[in-house]
Amino acid sequence: MTIYFIGAGPGDPDLLTLKAQKIIAAADVIIYAGSLVNPKILTHARPHAEIHNSAGLKLAAQIEIMRRAAAQGKTVARLHTGDPTLYGATLEQMRELSRLKIPYSVVPGVSSAFAATAALKTELTAPGQTQTVIFTRMPGRTPVPDTERLRDLAAHHTSIVLFLSAGMIAKVVDELLAAGYTPDTPIAVVYRASWEDELVLRGTLETITAQIDAAEITHQALIIVSPVLAKGAAGVADSHLYGAAFAPLDRTDRPAIIALTRRGAETGLRLHRLLKHSMLYAPARFLPADPPADTIGYTVSVRQVLHDAFRRHSALICLMASGIVVREIAPLLRSKHTDPAVVVTDEQGRNAISLLSGHKGGANFLAQRIADLLGGHAILTTASDGQQLPALDLLGEKFGWQLETGDDMTAVIATMVNGEPTGIFQDGGDDSWLADLPPHVSRYSTIEALIAARPNAAIVVSARTLPADLRRAVSRLIVYRPPVLAVGVGCNRGTPAAEIIAAVEETLARAELSLLSIAMIATIDAKADEIGLLEACRRQNWQLQIFTRAEIAAVDNLPNPSPWAMKALGVPGVAEPSALLAAQTETLLVEKQKFANVTVAVAQQVMEM
Ligand code: SAH
Repeated sequence: MTIYFIGAGPGDPDLLTLKAQKIIAAADVIIYAGSLVNPKILTHARPHAEIHNSAGLKLAAQIEIMRRAAAQGKTVARLHTGDPTLYGATLEQMRELSRLKIPYSVVPGVSSAFAATAALKTELTAPGQTQTVIFTRMPGRTPVPDTERLRDLAAHHTSIVLFLSAGMIAKVVDELLAAGYTPDTPIAVVYRASWEDELVLRGTLETITAQIDAAEITHQALIIVSPVLAKGAAGVADSHLYGAAFAPLDRTDRPAIIALTRRGAETGLRLHRLLKHSMLYAPARFLPADPPADTIGYTVSVRQVLHDAFRRHSALICLMASGIVVREIAPLLRSKHTDPAVVVTDEQGRNAISLLSGHKGGANFLAQRIADLLGGHAILTTASDGQQLPALDLLGEKFGWQLETGDDMTAVIATMVNGEPTGIFQDGGDDSWLADLPPHVSRYSTIEALIAARPNAAIVVSARTLPADLRRAVSRLIVYRPPVLAVGVGCNRGTPAAEIIAAVEETLARAELSLLSIAMIATIDAKADEIGLLEACRRQNWQLQIFTRAEIAAVDNLPNPSPWAMKALGVPGVAEPSALLAAQTETLLVEKQKFANVTVAVAQQVMEM
């Protein structure tokens, strides 16, 4: 054996192996990597050994030295820094020697990766944290294969040791952020590990570039990123925040409103007031001296705020240019199943753009909601829209419904916006608002099914009186009363208004129907001037709809035809046919109820689907 590739260790001459020392002591020729191998190691060499610094030598010249020595039966020690098998450029030499049929062997050494980790007094693998180490580098003159981009490797969150990259720290940081690391992730740089002037820098992705610049480190340094750095035995600069960076996501369901500019902060304060469940992040200098609750004034970069919010909130409303948001969150994107909803709104709140997680994450719904609250437009770009998500508090106005139970309005809206299970039961009125619901919002065909599902919030649109166990099953509830009941009324001449009102109330109560759902009172033309009836409608704000004798006579198949009405008015009834005509249906919800001077029947308008 004539040629030895020898690991000369990271710098400290005591970190040479005994085997390496013996070979050096016996070698006739020594070639060493001048800048990185400690010259003190050469003191082991024989006094008359021939010593070359490889720094000034091309490959061909080195091979020529080896070839000549081998031809003379001499022994050559080729000293490589650290361990020769890592970034040692030994393969090209081996290839040439094989071609020349010169035998060689390799003696391992202590890599700088291990000297640097020793300097950090930690371990690269730790149970429960990582069991893998990746040795890599940023591309330089030597390219790195595309499949080994740092951002891809780093996605595994293993220990990573970066050689030959200290001069490119800014790029390293970008790649790590792109891999989903947070700015507060610890990172260490070890300069000249095991040398007398060794220097250890500990920082975070956010600080390390400035630290390296300040220390003027460009080479002879390793960069180490690892979950174990958070819990190094020495505990130096350990960050408890770091643990959170890798913890499974446990996001709050409160939407984060994030403002960047003065105007944005103003709009943010307005939106924060309207969107009760929200938290507002705005630059501290743009917030009032005494800011409202759940307002956080920040002084760090907007990148950091966005990154933190992305991790901590299930929905982000960013009051800033979409470009800023896209750039900053791009590195954090994982999948539509886990990413939070992101809505971008200009600083004045004119447009609310559903940017990310439109369907599953609820961003479409949120954008719609913000547009409603701020009086702007929602911009949705997902394919299946239609997803005009309901602005619950505006439904009444839109469809002419009465809000019966509205105290929970804000809570129900928050539940829906935040993607929690929300149940809907509607059996009357326009239901076009339910066309394309997000998956967390379900419509049930009966109120009993809704109760059984026990959603976090419920919206009921119905004329029906609600069972008591609905309240018990669903703590956040809003109830709208659509005007769908046509109440047919017949009465004797001179019946007072109060008696008519009481008869209607009694009829609806027995049938478990809400008075708020009365669309109109209907009767025959012969009663169009009936004082008590007119007065009752005026008092109760009921519409009165009059049908002619001919129209009423044309309705057949009445369940309860009236001989009296036939005799007096020439029609088979008043209350029942009037209700059917007004509701434009053929079946009654409540057949004729007879009171002393009043008859009442109820029909429900058929829901237009
Ligand atoms: N084979 C060597 C690596 C050679 S590549 C080994 O196993 O350590 C040269 C790179 O190694 C340098 O750019 C630097 O990143 C790293 N390096 C070598 N010696 C070092 C030391 N003492 N301290 C820190 N980094 C070192």
